[in-house]
Amino acid sequence: MEAAACRKLALVAAVLCTHVYSWLKLAARSIFCKIIAGQIPSMKLYEDDEVLAFLDIGPIAKRHALVIPKYHAAKLHELPDEHLGRLLPVAKRLALASGADEYNILQNNGRGAHQQVDHVHFHMIPKTSPKEGLIIEWPATQPEREELQKVSWRGDCTWDTSADPRRSCTAR
Ligand SMILES: [Zn+2]
Repeated sequence: MEAAACRKLALVAAVLCTHVYSWLKLAARSIFCKIIAGQIPSMKLYEDDEVLAFLDIGPIAKRHALVIPKYHAAKLHELPDEHLGRLLPVAKRLALASGADEYNILQNNGRGAHQQVDHVHFHMIPKTSPKEGLIIEWPATQPEREELQKVSWRGDCTWDTSADPRRSCTAR
């Protein structure tokens, strides 16, 4: 094959590869990333450069809202610290604005822990009546002190953001 033809073929392959990569990236994005990008409508409550808040479309209470970082991370431990800072102040504002005296701030990670969308999100759920809002089952146990000590943290958490938190802060 001539060098010019070969270069042309390589260029076509590179362009095709870029398009396939972009398409795969788009397809892999979470529903919340699509809401951030404006591809899916939402009932927006608050937005800034880092954070978006909107009404939950399957609310368990009136004014049940979600607060999400614009940075995509599926679980909390995957979200860099610099993207965490604005989330709770916004959740606090929403709680105040909801007018509810009682409310829950909930953040789930993984299907077993009731996470339905793989993009970090905080729920702000007003608790306006016993039947409305979050209903928690709390299977508390009463272990002996020695048992507690066996499962305690090593206490060697290093808050070095460059380190993998699961390695720098481990449980026995
Ligand atoms: Zn996402």
